[in-house]
Amino acid sequence: AIPQTAKQQDSSFLQVERKGESRIHSVDLDNPGFGDVFSDHMLSMEYRDGQWQQPKVVPFGDLSLSPATATLHYGQTVFEGMKAFKSEDGDVNIFRLQDHLNRFNNSCARMCIPQPDANLLGKAIKKLIAIDRDWVPEKYGNALYIRPIVFAADACLGVKPAQTYRLIVLTSPVGAYYEEGFDPVNLTTTEDYIRAVKGGSGFVKTACNYGPTLLPAKKAKENGFTQIIWLDAHEHKYIEEVGTMNIFFKINGELYTPSLNGSILGGITRDSVIQLADKWDTPIHQRPLTIDEIFEEDDKGNLEEIFGTGTAAVISPVGSINHKGQTIVTDREQIGPFAQRLYDTITGIQYSTLEDTYQWMSSI
Ligand code: PMP
Repeated sequence: AIPQTAKQQDSSFLQVERKGESRIHSVDLDNPGFGDVFSDHMLSMEYRDGQWQQPKVVPFGDLSLSPATATLHYGQTVFEGMKAFKSEDGDVNIFRLQDHLNRFNNSCARMCIPQPDANLLGKAIKKLIAIDRDWVPEKYGNALYIRPIVFAADACLGVKPAQTYRLIVLTSPVGAYYEEGFDPVNLTTTEDYIRAVKGGSGFVKTACNYGPTLLPAKKAKENGFTQIIWLDAHEHKYIEEVGTMNIFFKINGELYTPSLNGSILGGITRDSVIQLADKWDTPIHQRPLTIDEIFEEDDKGNLEEIFGTGTAAVISPVGSINHKGQTIVTDREQIGPFAQRLYDTITGIQYSTLEDTYQWMSSI
């Protein structure tokens, strides 16, 4: 048996402290839910004395923090979300690892957080997943969600960039988003709230963008909608995102999505959809899109499909959009054919049933 907290120098760049006894037997990997079951280990890295220190794999566990920890007060923190998949023959691959880590570093730059070396972090994440590979679910549709987070660790109430930071990568087996077929979402605009503003932080993944969306989302739910379709902060007429996803419209055989304008998060799934549409010779337009023109195209009968994109669900068909009391209803209860083709292709690449033409997968 491995002794409890046996320390071993696994390789020069990474220290490994293994957990004594695995908790995996208490978990149903076929039905893990979403986000409240965590694997045995996590990656931990500290920034001090002006540099990032050696990463460590340690047993998953609570952190001990001063109540004055800067990030709890002022939100100097950044996170990512990506997934590892098990193929039929048991190989484990991470979807667009380096692209997620590049976005992580862009987020760090915006939040005044020193950037870790993305290559080293990628190597360390692969090692973490290799150690906990039994936690990557085998069931098609399920995956291991990977959550890197970095936060200001100074115990100091001054509003200023911290001198010390803590980076953690935790992992969580998650279930398929759609167990029983797609469930189209019903969206509404809101005049009372905005998600992000140019010059703010909407284009990066920082906690500050998420907390303030909870109240408007709660109100939308109370009014019978699944999520909010966010409009721009200045004129309240340009479409930005939906919930925590990017949005696409198929109009007259062509694909449209809002261009990245400084207040929209550049989704990795969004980018994957754009690459696929391009390959399939479907014209793809990235430009400012008004909510009014979408309603006009719908009136003219040109609007074919609407869907959201994101790591959690990959593709999320939109059932309806409410805007100032008027409603677009897509005439399908189910996902549209283009969205279905995107979903099948992306998940096929993720689970290695399709060829990885774009080198999106990193084997661990
Ligand atoms: N927008 C927001 C605000 C998000 O939080 C996410 C999820 N990361 C997305 C879009 C979709 O991005 P991705 O495809 O990289 O998951």
